Amino acid sequence: MKLIDAHIHLSDAEYTAHTAELMADAKNSNVAALVSNSMDLETSIGTLKLAEKYPGTVYAALGIHPWNVNVLNENELEEALKLISEQAQKKTVIAIGEIGLDSKYDTTWDKQLIVFEKMLKLAETLGLPVIVHSRGTTAQIVQMLPSYKLKHVLLHWFSYPLTALSDAVSHGYFITEGPPAAYSNGIREVIAQVPLTNLMTETDGPVKYWKQPFNGQLTMPSFIRNVVEAVAEIKKTSVDEVAEQIARNFEAFFEVKLT
Ligand SMILES: [Zn+2]
Repeated sequence: MKLIDAHIHLSDAEYTAHTAELMADAKNSNVAALVSNSMDLETSIGTLKLAEKYPGTVYAALGIHPWNVNVLNENELEEALKLISEQAQKKTVIAIGEIGLDSKYDTTWDKQLIVFEKMLKLAETLGLPVIVHSRGTTAQIVQMLPSYKLKHVLLHWFSYPLTALSDAVSHGYFITEGPPAAYSNGIREVIAQVPLTNLMTETDGPVKYWKQPFNGQLTMPSFIRNVVEAVAEIKKTSVDEVAEQIARNFEAFFEVKLT
């Protein structure tokens, strides 16, 4: 069985002292691929180093997160765009992420839009998939994306509204769900509604989960097993079946072959 963590932040400072532990945990729990998402230029460079160190297991997604648009250094956006273009030539980046819009940070809205639109344009030019953060903005983003010619779209931690879920699925978009699948009724409802062919699993670590069975421990790739078990229970199918389909989704979405 090959499990997938399609959204984690391995280059986050909270994980720096734990890289070896995380990679051993992934190996022991059959997590065959981790897509490491970036928040800014510095974490994008960190992500590339990790992807180089763990080829065939860690895959690089580069981008600028909406939470960071207000603290960018001068030229940081341009440098990040340039880095992504260069790495795309070398095929060392598999997606642009994490990018998006967050309505909870509405004071930075204009900047969020500028950064998001530039990243979407670049994804279009380079033919790269996008990994999107859409807290409070999912319906708006699902309206907005069809005006770009995007190869593949992944809406991470999709939570609401369910009407946007059917629109997203009708456009062929994917979603990821993580540890809340084990305890959140809202997330379990999303999983019930989304076709298994449009779903992948994530931890979004180092985000912590305080409810059972995670209890605020350091988020580990092995949590993916709990997510797959929850999906199997909701979909009334086997863990093997879910894992197999998600591995296939991963290969099709990112156009990589699992090793
Ligand atoms: Zn994230």
